[in-house]
Amino acid sequence: MNYISTRGWGAKKTAKKVIIQGLAEDGGLYVPASFPRLPISPSSVHKESISYSSQATLILKSFLTDFSEPELNSACQEAYGDKFDHEAVVPIKILDKETAVLELWHGPTLAFKDLALQLMPRLLSLALKEEEEKYELVILVATSGDTGKAALEGFVDVPGIRIFVFYPHAGVSEIQRLQMVTQRGQNVGVCAVLGNFDDAQNGVKQIFSDAQINKELHKINFRLSSANSINWGRLAPQIVYYFTGYRQMVEAGLIATGDPILICVPTGNFGNILAAYYALQSGLPVAKLICASNRNKVLTDFIRQGIYDRRREFYRTESPSMDILISSNLERLLFELSGRNPDLVRNWMKDLEIKGWYRLPDEKISYLQSWFYGGFADRQGTLQAIQAVFNQHGYLIDPHTAVGYHVLRQYREETGESTPALLAATASPFKFDVAVLEALGRETKDKDEFFLLRELSALSGQPIPLKLAELQSLPEIHKEVCRKEEMAAVIMRFLKKAKAG
Ligand SMILES: *Cc1c(COP(=O)(O)O)cnc(C)c1O
Repeated sequence: MNYISTRGWGAKKTAKKVIIQGLAEDGGLYVPASFPRLPISPSSVHKESISYSSQATLILKSFLTDFSEPELNSACQEAYGDKFDHEAVVPIKILDKETAVLELWHGPTLAFKDLALQLMPRLLSLALKEEEEKYELVILVATSGDTGKAALEGFVDVPGIRIFVFYPHAGVSEIQRLQMVTQRGQNVGVCAVLGNFDDAQNGVKQIFSDAQINKELHKINFRLSSANSINWGRLAPQIVYYFTGYRQMVEAGLIATGDPILICVPTGNFGNILAAYYALQSGLPVAKLICASNRNKVLTDFIRQGIYDRRREFYRTESPSMDILISSNLERLLFELSGRNPDLVRNWMKDLEIKGWYRLPDEKISYLQSWFYGGFADRQGTLQAIQAVFNQHGYLIDPHTAVGYHVLRQYREETGESTPALLAATASPFKFDVAVLEALGRETKDKDEFFLLRELSALSGQPIPLKLAELQSLPEIHKEVCRKEEMAAVIMRFLKKAKAG
């Protein structure tokens, strides 16, 4: 399987090359040259007993054809073997005959990004080995909270790669801060930046484009790289769990093999739901993909009107990981909508950059709407969904998942359809304890984080996830705080110290 760019007619590349490279030279994103036809459930030889990592290997070997099966197998084993606190890795919770929740939050940082970020560093490491890279990679991350920790957990102790994370000093929750500053590992660094997320992100961008810094780094055999969500190595692993979710729905008797389902995904950068679309393209029976947004509903408007318009107010919501106005992975869907015509994609992207908006032609809008439904939830809808699910099912969902639940219900009310649905649960409710407790009518102001976790645990009867409970007793290792102008110096110091051993 080879990969092509969404913006050019350039040469095809192997999976290893595109995972190392990230973005294509022409500014486009890499997509598979074609989609494999995957079996809906694993062959009868494996049946029931197949582990998540074996299923991941089976599916990924059709996409990552230049990795050997033993390579993929051991990478998936390391990623999914014992890093998740549930045997099934992505278990389903059945709410009723028509609704199964796919719990994507059993990984080390309690959000779905672990499923990609546990595997991607291992794929990258294998790809680098092939290249006989003389440079060690330095993954540089600016984070508003979640991605930083997921990247640290993914890259920790991966050979040939170092990782450094900058987070805004006053811009993350106490839990998120503790998650990062207690990170162990020989190849990791973390530093707070005095400022907000944009300061940290701009600082990282400047380091990437600073020729002098890059030259100095090359001299000591380091090369900068990023691990952002447009990398194919982060997208491919997400295709797997939609097949796993489907199989579990069959096993639970909600559907028969071959029955179409709805898949509902709380969406920000359009990565997770795009993986569901790729699963559909590869043979998973899907009736409709439901794209759920929060108050930043740029995607809802796009799906309903065919107009993508980023010229609008940005809101901070209780589902912060979906507070996004430019969904970068949408470009990959545009490529499919265009009939795989890079000229069209380039024009739309140019319009977005220059004018701030673009419009699809009518026939493309109908195609888009034949597969996608878009809806959104405001703060009230989100908190009500948390409350409703808890009251009716005794089950806690986090605010991101609640946005999905709200929109799924909206879809059913609008269409009267009762097709069984798989709802992607993207974070553990414990990770967003404040919003969840407020939805349930509890006072959270001025209360200590660990007090809130205990309260949520008492209320739900579920134990506090170990990874959060242990934060209270882990030593704070990374205490450094710097000004924005000092970020480059911090990195240089970290790497020189690393070299010195
Ligand atoms: C990142 C994230 C999302 C959004 O996923 P995309 O792939 O960017 O659409 C939703 N929920 C949570 C909890 C996340 O961390």
